[in-house]
Amino acid sequence: MNLILLGPPGAGKGTQARRLQDKHGLIQLSTGDMLRAAVAEGSEVGKKAKAIMEAGQLVSDDVMIAMIAERIDRPDCKNGFILDGFPRTTAQAEALDDMLASKGFKLDHVIEMKVDEEALVERVTGRYSCAKCGAGYHDKFLQPKVAGVCDSCGSTNFTRRDDDNEATVRARLVAYNKQTAPILPYYQQHNVLKTIDGMADIDAVTQEIETIIQ
Ligand code: ADP
Ligand code: ADP
Ligand code: ZN
Repeated sequence: MNLILLGPPGAGKGTQARRLQDKHGLIQLSTGDMLRAAVAEGSEVGKKAKAIMEAGQLVSDDVMIAMIAERIDRPDCKNGFILDGFPRTTAQAEALDDMLASKGFKLDHVIEMKVDEEALVERVTGRYSCAKCGAGYHDKFLQPKVAGVCDSCGSTNFTRRDDDNEATVRARLVAYNKQTAPILPYYQQHNVLKTIDGMADIDAVTQEIETIIQ
């Protein structure tokens, strides 16, 4: 099964993609994670992307399409994947369709996660993750069971993203509304769009997604 999780920053895409990966063995393809790895590595792509990401703008379609094309070609994607953070523009959505068609992959569902703007800002500014295994947490909505200790791996090191501040989130929301939301009708026309209430709590959202993919 191949899925797209579509939604603004903080909608819960990464949280739900990780759960789907653990439960169903689908591979999470997060273009944000790939870009952050490129920035940390200091690669050419990373050098170009860093300032754009800090400004809350979108990295160019050429770079993103090449990145996902390379990733989707790897053998682990044959068993199904979850796109988290891609596509974000009409050009990316069209390029993705071509890629899938050329590989004989089907797009089963595009799941739109709807969340109010102020809730998004609160979610993003309170987000942090385990520095070792990447498990996601939130200051208010998802704390580790033992304070300061990762539930998944026991690490006591946590990190926050440079772009998870209020000013950048506001810019990312503008980019979402202007450049990403216009691709929703495209998927609607192709009869793959399912919209869910991303305002519900994390377990309820998981349940909504499970019902769709069953
Ligand atoms: P995205 O990948 O869409 O940007 P995340 O999955 O990283 O979003 O979630 C953003 C933050 O909000 C994280 O700190 C996460 O723990 C928290 N979160 C995710 N889903 C919910 C939810 N349904 N209710 C409350 N907080 C949530
Ligand atoms: P979030 O989980 O908050 O939605 P991501 O981790 O997906 O954020 O993305 C972080 C940043 O990386 C974006 O603000 C953007 O600058 C860049 N980025 C990620 N995916 C894409 C994409 N498909 N197209 C363009 N830029 C992207
Ligand atoms: Zn961990």
